[in-house]
Amino acid sequence: MSERTRRERMKLDPVEMPERSADSRRTDFGEVNEGYTAELAMAEAERCLFCARPTCVEGCPVGVDIVNFVHRVEAGEFEEAAAVISADNSLPAVCGRVCPQETQCEGACGLAKKGKAIHIGHLERFVADYARDHDHAPAPVPSPTGKRVAIVGSGPSGIACASDLVGLGHEVTVFEALHEVGGVLAYGIPEFRLPKSIVAAEMDQLRARGVRFETNAVIGMVDTVDDLLSVEGYDAVFIGVGAGLPRFLNVPGENLIGVFSASEFLTRVNLMRAYVEDSDTALIEVEGKAVVVFGAGNTAMDAARTAVRLDAASVTIAYRRSREEMPARTEELDHAEAEGVRFETLVGPVELHGDDDGRLTGVMLQKMILGEPDADGRRSPVPVPEQIREIPVDVAIVAIGNTPNPLLLRATPDLEQSKWGTVVVDHDTGQTSKPGVFAGGDIVTGGATVILAMGAGRRAAAAIGEFLGSSAELEEELL
Ligand SMILES: Cc1cc2nc3c(=O)[nH]c(=O)nc-3n(C[C@H](O)[C@H](O)[C@H](O)COP(=O)(O)OP(=O)(O)OC[C@H]3O[C@@H](n4cnc5c(N)ncnc54)[C@H](O)[C@@H]3O)c2cc1C
Repeated sequence: MSERTRRERMKLDPVEMPERSADSRRTDFGEVNEGYTAELAMAEAERCLFCARPTCVEGCPVGVDIVNFVHRVEAGEFEEAAAVISADNSLPAVCGRVCPQETQCEGACGLAKKGKAIHIGHLERFVADYARDHDHAPAPVPSPTGKRVAIVGSGPSGIACASDLVGLGHEVTVFEALHEVGGVLAYGIPEFRLPKSIVAAEMDQLRARGVRFETNAVIGMVDTVDDLLSVEGYDAVFIGVGAGLPRFLNVPGENLIGVFSASEFLTRVNLMRAYVEDSDTALIEVEGKAVVVFGAGNTAMDAARTAVRLDAASVTIAYRRSREEMPARTEELDHAEAEGVRFETLVGPVELHGDDDGRLTGVMLQKMILGEPDADGRRSPVPVPEQIREIPVDVAIVAIGNTPNPLLLRATPDLEQSKWGTVVVDHDTGQTSKPGVFAGGDIVTGGATVILAMGAGRRAAAAIGEFLGSSAELEEELL
């Protein structure tokens, strides 16, 4: 480790992530960010001040020991850094790529106020990729407890829960409705941001530790949560089924041909491999077309940037607030803009128009101004009377958020739900109203982030561990 003083470290410039040029990357689905080399990673780690009270750790929802791992990177001890991260994070290569670090660990970094926060995400990605490339052995598992847990949903919440539970010696089976595991990581986030091989490698680490995956298994259709407990004999169930039901605009013309939800668009591209060159899968045709995307979150940016790569003639993000309120990660906004996505702010769609064949031809956009802050603290859009204009559009993609899919919950009527259709749980434990049944992730919070879902999965795993411990003790007492 270098002997630099704090003052010297503070003077060092951040090491930026090498990335492909916008011109080259907008023509294919290859990853945009190229990753640090070992030298770049060590140089970036050298900027860390190793604060006595590491606020970055407080900013991480899964509590990764950031100071310790950055310290190891600075010393060139990459395997050791990987072990530090994987003690708290079962998806480090994913989180290093997609976490909104600017509002979490990096936002809490002591250097953030000077605009020079340590690039913790880039370092995490480097360490995770290094470990994968060097066959880092998966964390060991203890001897089996004989207890069995069913996890419903293979997204980040279910994966984090599964990882901690096998780490406690429990037998874990993950039931996934789709034919691929990973949740939004597999079917939502596109290849150019999160290569599918990275998600697959993280899943292989879990398999190596004994987690079983059952795909094409929709819980609530054939088997219910009650069946898992009483017929299949699981000792506890964790529900991590996400919020996969798209919201629509509820404006006239939304049924026209050419209007899609971002979920459908991205799922078709991701799961049907449209990103593979010469793929002949049934796609949503956008080549040569004028595309508008409604919304400005990560999903909207992913849909817009995917349309760019599928050779749309033009791609416009239409958003009812201003650039400052856009919820997408800063990096996604910058990348989208550099790739040629046009941002039209302070407009909201009020009607979609079509031709005699029912095909979309245009969108009526209402001008907005910003009013008072709403419940989130963001200023609300207010329509400006009589300021509506039409823009020509061939394809519209709606990316204004998702709600929970009611399928599993309808089949589990004694599970308490909120008026928004989310599952009600104890925040610290994920315990639902049903004994032995826990939940976490987007099904509890509504659409949020990967790391928040993982944090919920970890809290639930700890609570399930205690629940199983106490049920084991009870059984022993009865014998
Ligand atoms: C396009 C897109 C981009 C995003 N980008 C980012 C980003 O950059 N950074 C970030 O932090 N967050 C991002 N998010 C949000 C993040 O992905 C989610 O908050 C996170 O994946 C939620 O995890 P989860 O485990 O709750 O659910 P999910 O990831 O939704 O996984 C739930 C899984 O449960 C399965 N399932 C559903 N019902 C059943 C059933 N009845 N039986 C069995 N299985 C079932 C689903 O098929 C799915 O695989 C993005 C979301 C989307 C849609």
